[in-house]
Amino acid sequence: MIALVTQLSDAKNQAWLALFKEQMPAEDIVIFSQMNHEQRLACDIAIIANPLLEQLESLPNLVWAHSLWAGVESLVKAVKKMKLTLVRLIDPMLSQTMAEAALAWTLYLHRDMPKYAKQQSQKVWHQIEYIEPKDRHVSILGLGALGQEAAKVIQAQGFNVSGWSYSQKNLEGVSCYHGEEGLQTMLTETHILICLLPLTDMTRGLINREFIAHLPDGAQLINFARGGIINSNDLFAALDAGELDHAVLDVFEQEPLTSESEYWSNDKVTVLPHISAQTNPVSASRIVATNINNYRQQGIVPEGVDVGKGY
Ligand code: NAP
Repeated sequence: MIALVTQLSDAKNQAWLALFKEQMPAEDIVIFSQMNHEQRLACDIAIIANPLLEQLESLPNLVWAHSLWAGVESLVKAVKKMKLTLVRLIDPMLSQTMAEAALAWTLYLHRDMPKYAKQQSQKVWHQIEYIEPKDRHVSILGLGALGQEAAKVIQAQGFNVSGWSYSQKNLEGVSCYHGEEGLQTMLTETHILICLLPLTDMTRGLINREFIAHLPDGAQLINFARGGIINSNDLFAALDAGELDHAVLDVFEQEPLTSESEYWSNDKVTVLPHISAQTNPVSASRIVATNINNYRQQGIVPEGVDVGKGY
């Protein structure tokens, strides 16, 4: 028995259910709110999207849960107590979508689009000096499923690409760094910094004034990961001081942003409503179904997130 446990609308739940039933016709899959007591007892797998902890706790025989999202940071600590394997979505389609976003917003900054938009609003005719991609250094924080593909796609456009991860990586054409010293070395030569780290105890508030001080003056920032990785007061201070030239932000501590949020009106910030890489229901449902079929046929629980590391 499989439970679909989400905070999505009824229509979205029904759409996901239809896809899962198509992919796994032999499975009994029920939306959590419609499960009776016996079904909850019989449930060994949950397919989840931002579930409430108490919903998962009310499934006493749950062995593992498959998220429909790549980021599961809000759940990692909660499931630690439950001894539940939490499987996040790793989907090449999602990596491609994120890489496309990383390239699109890198080009937006590289070709000075925020500055030209501002100039137009002020009727200013001024040609900014062109810089070739080979002379622009793009660095990626996080070289996981999403960061590696982004590095590859941006590097193919002729940019100088570096990346930073927890463990040392070896990627063709990408300067790979790890550790505190590696981070500082990478930052000192970065023009455009893209954050694709998970939010963990180690990365919360990582991008603060001290971190930004390692970047050359006028560097630009793209955050596609989680809002909590940036110290927002320090970000505004660095933008005001010209230490940072512009920030493209797709993720925020509080989403959606409230109408009072400072982010909306700061002309050095481009606000995106968490759209850089949305789960593709067709490819995601296939991946979830493959993992569930492997479990049913071979008893293999897919690799879960490392709750100790937090991602
Ligand atoms: P992932 O495969 O787990 O990769 C995470 C990367 O970050 C890894 O390279 C890891 O290093 C590195 N890392 C983690 N903690 C670190 C630390 N303390 N110091 C240095 N490096 C560290 O995750 P992913 O699938 O690429 O996704 C990354 C994040 O993107 C997700 O957690 C989620 O928050 C976000 N996301 C956003 C959207 C959106 O639409 N905005 C969509 C999907 C995902 P190792 O390789 O050495 O472990």
